[in-house]
Amino acid sequence: ATKLMAGKRGLIMGVANDKSIAWGIAKACAEQGAEIAFSYQGEALKKRVEPLAAEIGSTEIIECDVSDAASLDALFARLEKVWGKLDFVVHAIGFSDKTELRGRYVDTGAENFRMTMDISVYSFTAVCKRAAAMMPDGGSLLTLTYYGAERVMPHYNVMGVAKAALEASVRYIAEDLGKDGIRCNAISAGPIKTLAASGIGDFRYILKWNELNSPMRRNVSQEDVGKSALYLLSDLGSGVTGETHHVDCGYHVVGMKAVDAPDI
Ligand code: NAD
Repeated sequence: ATKLMAGKRGLIMGVANDKSIAWGIAKACAEQGAEIAFSYQGEALKKRVEPLAAEIGSTEIIECDVSDAASLDALFARLEKVWGKLDFVVHAIGFSDKTELRGRYVDTGAENFRMTMDISVYSFTAVCKRAAAMMPDGGSLLTLTYYGAERVMPHYNVMGVAKAALEASVRYIAEDLGKDGIRCNAISAGPIKTLAASGIGDFRYILKWNELNSPMRRNVSQEDVGKSALYLLSDLGSGVTGETHHVDCGYHVVGMKAVDAPDI
């Protein structure tokens, strides 16, 4: 059978190491024949991204700090030069000062609020605008969000507010670009132990809670997210846009879990 991503070229942003959600998506896309360019933040991460990119035969590894417009312009100028066109983009980037990912949301500081919104929300819009200009035949744009956008989760705080804005921006971008055949979606992933997640207070407890209370009684893996991303990035998702698709073992549908061992 032809591979799902055969002939498709895409940019994957946000690989920090082999635990990154972006890397799970990259592996799934490469397995299905996609050609992938990676962007990374800063020299320190380059050494981690290079061997991973090599594993899937990718040679375009480009530095980009999404808080810097000139850096974003340089990234897309490079892609324009080597590829000319793009079929998909994955934005798996978020950041907030970890001192604000614990305690009370109400204590959030103005400066970190603005930085969190800039890196975790606006950057996706800035990426989509530049990517769309390279998608004359249509394309698929994907970002990563979390249930803390919809409901209060411990310690998620300002990042929950940012993810709510990110999900709203996905809907607006879907409308803006839909007539050009460009789709825009988010995956709301259940908790996964990554570098970014380790900044969140009590993360081990959050993982355990999700494992015990999700309908599937387990946590999601990088592979689970990779496979769902493949659906949204490939032609399988051809009629889907503006969507926040939950890949969380069903956690978001549970109001109250049934007692597993009914002896209390
Ligand atoms: P990760 O630490 O592997 O990835 C986060 C990435 O963001 C890193 O590669 C980092 O370099 C990048 N980044 C931060 N600031 C940047 C900047 N200014 N410019 C460029 N890149 C920048 O962690 P992850 O968990 O794979 O996170 C990926 C996405 O998934 C994030 O949006 C995160 O909020 C989201 N998400 C994570 C979980 C989870 O439990 N891990 C759950 C749902 C959603």
